[in-house]
Amino acid sequence: MSANNLTPQSSKISLADIETRNKHKGAIIWFTGLSGSGKSTIATETELKLFEKGINVYVLDGDNLRMGLNKGLTFSDDDRKENIRRAAEVAKLFYQAGFVVICGFISPFNADREEAKALVPADRFFEVFIKCSIEECIKRDPKNLYKKAIGNRIPNFTGISSPYEVPVNPELIINTETTPVIDAVKLITDMLYLKGIINDTPITGKT
Ligand code: ADP
Repeated sequence: MSANNLTPQSSKISLADIETRNKHKGAIIWFTGLSGSGKSTIATETELKLFEKGINVYVLDGDNLRMGLNKGLTFSDDDRKENIRRAAEVAKLFYQAGFVVICGFISPFNADREEAKALVPADRFFEVFIKCSIEECIKRDPKNLYKKAIGNRIPNFTGISSPYEVPVNPELIINTETTPVIDAVKLITDMLYLKGIINDTPITGKT
């Protein structure tokens, strides 16, 4: 027994067993980008396409997690770190259950994203930068948050009063000012195919 009285419990089912039955591998696709950049929009469309292909897929969304598991965490640097730590641990559980997990979190700090990445094998974690200028995000303002943030009514708002660190070496960069949603979905599913996560031919055609 370890010093903290915890013992890891092992399963009789390996991830390889699950993946053989599923006919695809488990993986984490980690979207990072400013609020309004398009993370949720692309995540839900990609989820639908993969589901239709018979892939076990699940979306972890920042706002949704903050309404449950992460309720009570603020947007201070420390709480953002804890928010991402918990999110990454949940993503790992889904990965271990054989899912393709699509994570949509602003996750503004490189160090926190690196920690998330370190939880699973390197070839099962794909950082995707959902790129969009702050000017365009302010113009879109789908949740009316920028208006409030610029009016100083939301403290620590990423891009306005809190920093965003651009990913250093993402697997994929999707510029949503120039890439329609359907093309973004195809870029992601093509990536999964090329990386051997899904075996079927990449998705083609219109949504
Ligand atoms: P986030 O999850 O990053 O906060 P959302 O997906 O909630 O962003 O909001 C993005 C907004 O931008 C939506 O209103 C969406 O319709 C719009 N949008 C316009 N063009 C695109 C695009 N190419 N990709 C993704 N979203 C886009």
